[in-house]
Amino acid sequence: MIVVLRESADATDRDRVRALLESRGASFRPLEAGGRGLFVLEGEVSADLSRTLATLPGVDGVLPLRQGFVLASRRYHPEGTVVEAGPARIGGPSLVLAAGPCAVEDREGLEAAAEAVRKAGGSLLRGGSFKPRTSPYAFQGLGEEGLRIHRETADRFGLAMVSEVLDRADLPLVSSYADVLQVGSRNMQNFPLLKALGKVSRPVILKRGLAATREEFLLAAEYILEAGNPRVILCERGVRSFDPSLRNSLDLGSVVLLKEMTHLPVLVDPSHASGDRRLVVPLARAAVAAGADGLLVEVHPHPERALSDGPQALLPADLMALSRDLEVLAPVAGRTFRRAP
Ligand code: PEP
Ligand code: MN
Repeated sequence: MIVVLRESADATDRDRVRALLESRGASFRPLEAGGRGLFVLEGEVSADLSRTLATLPGVDGVLPLRQGFVLASRRYHPEGTVVEAGPARIGGPSLVLAAGPCAVEDREGLEAAAEAVRKAGGSLLRGGSFKPRTSPYAFQGLGEEGLRIHRETADRFGLAMVSEVLDRADLPLVSSYADVLQVGSRNMQNFPLLKALGKVSRPVILKRGLAATREEFLLAAEYILEAGNPRVILCERGVRSFDPSLRNSLDLGSVVLLKEMTHLPVLVDPSHASGDRRLVVPLARAAVAAGADGLLVEVHPHPERALSDGPQALLPADLMALSRDLEVLAPVAGRTFRRAP
């Protein structure tokens, strides 16, 4: 359980909470987070103690640990957070488009994708050089060579570089190249990695786990925030469903709920959410209508030759069509979106 004090709580309020906890023999840790005092109780707490704590002066709320995403919560941070990443301001009035191939494969392909991203009004160039693949025999990414190509291409086209970090050991290398670090779904609960990301001065795109609840998702974000990095961007990318006819099922209700539950920006990845190019643009439109702060989309100049995720990659012309849709839709969703002049 976590006792959250009000920002206005003074030393007397704190001492009162502390004295009550001590008198009940509770073991607790006092913490400071986001300008507030917290008392974290790891053991079981009686309903009676919990109720008494909640009514003390200076106490804002008492949360069970599984809802204890204090730093991520909008309740304690009503203003939406805007995360700056290169030319992008994610979470501001302008919709953000991050796009690129699933993986960095070669310079020519990445340049063709980057050109499409820039023309479409995108500001971030995605592409993994360390790929989380279901099979150990599948293409695993180019590693540092891919990071180098990605950095040079992003710079050439004036885009910020988004790259996935798979392992804590790769963090210094990936963050020496990338502007934004992506944590993939399979790593959403890699807690040592999340803690290490808290020490890095780079924004982090955290993707929702394949079968993670919203509370688990926000607690994963809390790990990064708590460890000291305030620049966290959430990404809905579909969850596992019972129906194998699509790769995943896009949880758009979650976009609406997350925007209420947290002040962090929320992107939607319609590519992994569907696994099927035909659905990507319609789902992207729906995501914007539901209140997403932007999109993370896969695009490839020759999807039939892609080494990963070809069937869900948009062609450059599809990305342009999406961009035109975004221009029309953005004002309806209370946003702006501008294609490159
Ligand atoms: C990716 O973005 O290419 C990726 C592997 O995504 P996810 O972690 O959402 O499966
Ligand atoms: Mn992919």
